[in-house]
Amino acid sequence: MAASAVYLHTDPNPYKFTGKERDAESGLDFFVARYYSSAYGRFLSPDEFTGGPEDAFSSSDPLPPGPLPYADITNLQSLNKYAYTFNNPVRYTDPNGHDGIEDFFTALDFVVGVFRGASASISFGAAPGSRPNESDSLTSRVGQTVGTAIVGGIGISATIGGVGTVAACSSSGAACAALPVVLPKAVAGTSAVVGAAKNSLDVILTPTQKSGQGPKKGSSGGPSAGKRVTPKQREQILQENDGKCVFCGKKATQVDHATPRSRNGNTKKENLQPACLGCNSSKGAKTSAEYIRWLKRKKIP
Ligand SMILES: [Zn+2]
Repeated sequence: MAASAVYLHTDPNPYKFTGKERDAESGLDFFVARYYSSAYGRFLSPDEFTGGPEDAFSSSDPLPPGPLPYADITNLQSLNKYAYTFNNPVRYTDPNGHDGIEDFFTALDFVVGVFRGASASISFGAAPGSRPNESDSLTSRVGQTVGTAIVGGIGISATIGGVGTVAACSSSGAACAALPVVLPKAVAGTSAVVGAAKNSLDVILTPTQKSGQGPKKGSSGGPSAGKRVTPKQREQILQENDGKCVFCGKKATQVDHATPRSRNGNTKKENLQPACLGCNSSKGAKTSAEYIRWLKRKKIP
């Protein structure tokens, strides 16, 4: 077996990355709606095909096409109409050249979540890796809720079914009374109910993973109000969010004051965030919140 597979132009197989056909003349990958350039790492035309996104289950249009039919305003990466799957190809795929979809990993997260929720409930959190933790995705947490509910439900029915009665009769045999008894099944059922209740609390109270850092709210005033960042602060902030711009996900080269210096923004960590040159300059004297509102209003060409 070869040490590595490198796709060259001479490769007779025209189906390349995620099974899309590569045009031999242009070297571009055909994504139904658009061509994707492996060389440039982006689509060569913007995503604004009319028709709106397709619902994966009903094949109907869930939303009427608006000014940004393939953009999700809560995911700023989706505003980049040339990017492939929000610049996150490990997590998303793009079957038709429009929006990226989270498919395989979502399903896997959910199924693993169901098993984790069930085993954490049965073991009172002792089963390794079963308890909720802060790196869980929201999907995994939903799965854990389902697993926990299943164990709780089985526990309730086992508890009810495990309580029986025996006839206790006096030695003379004259009077018999039905006395309730608790069978081992009911004990196990109660334990499952208590374990599920405990895990439900953990599932609710443990924070889930933040998807990226996201823009900061900002902070103003104090001794560092209106000050520039020091080279050391700059170095630290540029490592946040994997070195990517908090607004668009491109490589960050700038440190942005979430609340601008001109408006008393300080150099506390909660006011400094990595940004690309484009976002930092178009943000100008706006706060993070104002800039996001501005992005939403602005029609992306
Ligand atoms: Zn940016």
